[in-house]
Amino acid sequence: MAQCHPLMTRLVASSVVAATQAGKIIRDIFTQGDLNIVDKGVNDLQTEADRSAQNCIIESLSRQFPDITIIGEEGTSRCEVPSDWIVTDLDQDVLKVKLPDYLENVSPKDVCVWVDPLDGTSEFTQGLVDHITVLVGVAVGKKAVGGVIHQPYYKDVQKSSLGRTLWGIDKVGIGGFKPIPPPAGKKIITTTRSHSNKTVQAALDAIEPDEVIRVGGAGHKVMLLLEGKANAYVFASPGCKRWDTCAPEAVLHAAGGALTDLYGDNYPYDADTEHPNTKGVLATAPGEQHSWYLSRIPDQVKQEL
Ligand code: AMP
Ligand code: MG
Ligand code: MG
Repeated sequence: MAQCHPLMTRLVASSVVAATQAGKIIRDIFTQGDLNIVDKGVNDLQTEADRSAQNCIIESLSRQFPDITIIGEEGTSRCEVPSDWIVTDLDQDVLKVKLPDYLENVSPKDVCVWVDPLDGTSEFTQGLVDHITVLVGVAVGKKAVGGVIHQPYYKDVQKSSLGRTLWGIDKVGIGGFKPIPPPAGKKIITTTRSHSNKTVQAALDAIEPDEVIRVGGAGHKVMLLLEGKANAYVFASPGCKRWDTCAPEAVLHAAGGALTDLYGDNYPYDADTEHPNTKGVLATAPGEQHSWYLSRIPDQVKQEL
């Protein structure tokens, strides 16, 4: 029955369920207490939760969509995973969407899925669990057209449960969450908490912000833009990777905001592209003037990237 839906619809519907399951695995590992931390590089950690969440998402998606490319932050090796980590359900709300014509008949060979199984690992290892997100971004050709952001530790007071998942598709909009406009006439900027340096700070200073909110994770910072808590996310550093920005860019764009490099160009997300976002990140909330923020970034900051 579900096979009647277009590939793009099924892929986002499946990514919603897989990201939510990955969030449950992350919570289980955190509660059990042994994070088994590995150093991947300077200021770049990986835990048991990153590895397990990635295995859950990649196994779940690649069994259902064997002909697409999937690139995960934690490498390409596939392994045996517990059967209850593999999910094949589809989110029913996503299945109801009407796609724009150009996404109706996408070929699997043009699809690349970017997975950040746990964004904000540095904060996670410090117990700041509300900073983390699970990110699954869907690119068709070079463009980020679909995205899922799951917050494993979002507290839903009404349902008295943990976790929230939102999704976005180009020219459809977003689901699972209603965006709140950012403060009018303010410049509240969100940026890195754990990967700052002189250049990152120089870009912030040039904007003369009213307030700077330093939090972990690209997904979390884009959530602050959608929650009306910040006007822009500014990161003048080459440290972010495509898996950090594909899903946030697609969701933010579907909601009416924008995410580009510091020159105003969108990053390409096809399977052959490089992974580092070498020209930094600028994301603005729906209704904000992206070009104004771009115009404030000093040439010297751009040259130092
Ligand atoms: P942050 O805003 O510092 O949480 O960074 C957002 C994402 O980019 C996270 O996944 C970080 O791990 C990654 N990131 C940013 N800067 C660096 C860096 N210098 N080295 C490694 N990863 C980085
Ligand atoms: Mg990340
Ligand atoms: Mg990660």
